Amino acid sequence: MDILNSPDEMTQWSRRQALSGKSISFVPTMGFFHEGHLRLMRKAKESADLVVVSLFVNPTQFGPNEDLDSYPRNFERDQRLAEAEGVAVLFAPTPDLIYPQGFQTEVVVKELPFHLCGKNRPGHFNGVTTVVTKLFNMVLPQNAVFGEKDFQQLAVIRRMVQDLNIPVEIIGHPIVRESDGLAMSSRNKYLTASNRSSALSLSQSLQLARDSFQQGVSSTAELTEIISAHIGSFVGTEIDYVSFVDCDNLQSVDQVDRRTLLALAVRIDSTVRLIDNGFVVL
Ligand code: AMP
Repeated sequence: MDILNSPDEMTQWSRRQALSGKSISFVPTMGFFHEGHLRLMRKAKESADLVVVSLFVNPTQFGPNEDLDSYPRNFERDQRLAEAEGVAVLFAPTPDLIYPQGFQTEVVVKELPFHLCGKNRPGHFNGVTTVVTKLFNMVLPQNAVFGEKDFQQLAVIRRMVQDLNIPVEIIGHPIVRESDGLAMSSRNKYLTASNRSSALSLSQSLQLARDSFQQGVSSTAELTEIISAHIGSFVGTEIDYVSFVDCDNLQSVDQVDRRTLLALAVRIDSTVRLIDNGFVVL
């Protein structure tokens, strides 16, 4: 596995592969790999000749009071894990290479970013769309794999790629969970034993919404009350949002149907912010 830091070297590598007729599948990440990341890499391997994984903790998608400085990092471990997955290149640029002095361009999707996470994380999705566009231009992949764990991110990127005619096929991957249902996340590392059980309130809520709907509750106002009460019954939980939205435009809906996604963001112990989502009707 090659480790590249410079965007120019990355692009030269990709051009060489194109000349020899090899296709590239790309997995953008912020590192601190868990099984969710590894499954995306396996999906990428099935989707092209070569896999490029980027590892970049993108400063522009973190708000001023968010966890940029404390975001978990372990480059050596990530390197070993990516290598074991047969990744061809681990692309790990530094912020000054991605945002050199004088940088002043942003890629902005106008509406989708304002729902769900965008309400409490202003600017977050502009950071994501800008960096993903730059990474696509550096890596020149035929396709890229993103997790449905970040459902809104996936929707925003699909919209951007379509709107800007970016020639990269976007492949979604289902959420990878621990055996008890907790969605895998690099931020789970922050959870102590006691607040880890509170973290289970998220995945349990998805099941509770499905069960309640099966029992005849289809009003999302009622379901929101049921879910909020359930999350509130766990120690140290603070709801950021409980939202029932249309899976395409992410707008709130009043009644559940086949397109309804329940999206959740909950802060545990005022520190760890976790997200999860799932369709109410399976
Ligand atoms: P991150 O390093 O957290 O920015 O995530 C990199 C990619 O992995 C994103 O496309 C995420 O949606 C995806 N991802 C993270 N956790 C999971 C998970 N538990 N299941 C599926 N995809 C995931």
